[in-house]
Amino acid sequence: MNDTIFAPATPPGMGGIAIIRISGPQALAAITHCFVPKRGGTLVPRRLTYGTIQNEQGEWIDEAMVAFLPAPHTYTCEDVAEIQCHGNPSLVNAILFMLSQLPLGLRPAQPGEFTRRAFENGRLDLSEAEAVMDIIGAQGTASARASLAQLRGGISAQIRPWIEQLTQAVAAIEAGIDFPEDDWEEEANEQGFTQIQSVYSGIDRLLQTYRGGRIVRNGLRCAIVGKPNVGKSSLFNAAAGFERALVSQEAGTTRDVVEECISIDGIAIRLFDTAGLRLQAQGLEQRGMELGKQQIEMADVALLVLDASAPLDADDRLAMEQLGEVPCLIALNKGDLPPVLSREDAYAFYPQALGVYSCCAAEGQGVVELFRAALKAVGAEESQQTVLTNARHAEALTRAKRLLFSALEARQAGVPPDVAAMDAREALQALGEITGQTLSQEVIHTIFSTFCVGK
Ligand code: GDP
Repeated sequence: MNDTIFAPATPPGMGGIAIIRISGPQALAAITHCFVPKRGGTLVPRRLTYGTIQNEQGEWIDEAMVAFLPAPHTYTCEDVAEIQCHGNPSLVNAILFMLSQLPLGLRPAQPGEFTRRAFENGRLDLSEAEAVMDIIGAQGTASARASLAQLRGGISAQIRPWIEQLTQAVAAIEAGIDFPEDDWEEEANEQGFTQIQSVYSGIDRLLQTYRGGRIVRNGLRCAIVGKPNVGKSSLFNAAAGFERALVSQEAGTTRDVVEECISIDGIAIRLFDTAGLRLQAQGLEQRGMELGKQQIEMADVALLVLDASAPLDADDRLAMEQLGEVPCLIALNKGDLPPVLSREDAYAFYPQALGVYSCCAAEGQGVVELFRAALKAVGAEESQQTVLTNARHAEALTRAKRLLFSALEARQAGVPPDVAAMDAREALQALGEITGQTLSQEVIHTIFSTFCVGK
């Protein structure tokens, strides 16, 4: 049986109330020891009770609300007690110290230990436990919603049937190896490979959601690129909603990379306003351009800003040449002035552009639409279907996909079926790593150790 652990569930010094959580067989005994309900009240399970917290010597530490939640319908599936006390860190520490001194063998929880117990007691699988941490660290509401969907079993709900199907497929193929002459075994074999094909396609579809899912989770890195004076800083400021970057009529005023985080449709966007690119740049401006180039390389998407009221020139070309392989949208700015450049001119200038969007950065017109289009272009949209957001899951799925592909290839090449069966078995192993079924204790320990204390 587990020992009893405790930890603050709220971060230190953050608010009026702090919550201390206790989980394990001694949770009720611990509360009975240190908590005295007011006015002769009694502790009723799953109800908050008001009273005082005292130490072993009967000295008052704080007034508090306490709840006792009996196993098994709790977060950890164990007996849980929660103390809501005042958020003063010294009071919280005094209560934690008092708990450690009780003659009940309580100890401070390690990072992620409550969630680990939920995992070990079968309440959550590993991908769901990871979703708990993702919700806590989510950037933006869309990211939090994607994590919540995963906590509700989104990824597991897809992977569990695949594990079942593959297990059946391996059994069918292996039966065929033992009795190769039987007709019905050939049929089972055939069925086995059909199942492998179906799991392969499912994994492929889920993996395709990863690029967008990763952005929903971590935010979109977006570089604003263009020659001086096209309105990059104005676009940046319009997005940020305030004057963050310096706007000037003098060319070459943005010399460092300015960064801002905005949120569009609940998805975080990290904007980088890069230094204007121009041929005669030198000194500090030149260094700014180099930094900008690094930002472009690291970006998920770039916005190439062109001035719609002036003809294209060599500096526009220089800016365009910095884009490399980064997916890019064109922002045709200064849409309020008499037009010189058309959308067709912009496309002809940079045919790889994923779209051309007119805007007027000075007035903030068309700016939100531009960022929405950028999110859409890289597949970062909130969607009803389950999206893959976690790098560990993506790695395991990529491995499973590769193994299933090689199983299908072996079948095509007429290689004996035991080779394919072995690949399918390894793919099963990879899928089991996502739910935690086939991971070693050490790896599971490493994953939970990255979680925060008190969760
Ligand atoms: P950057 O050098 O590319 O960052 O350009 P800035 O944002 O500093 O803008 C250069 C000049 O263009 C400033 O005088 C801005 O007021 C002006 N500007 C920017 N956007 C617009 C726009 O949409 N319409 C008009 N008419 N002027 C703009």
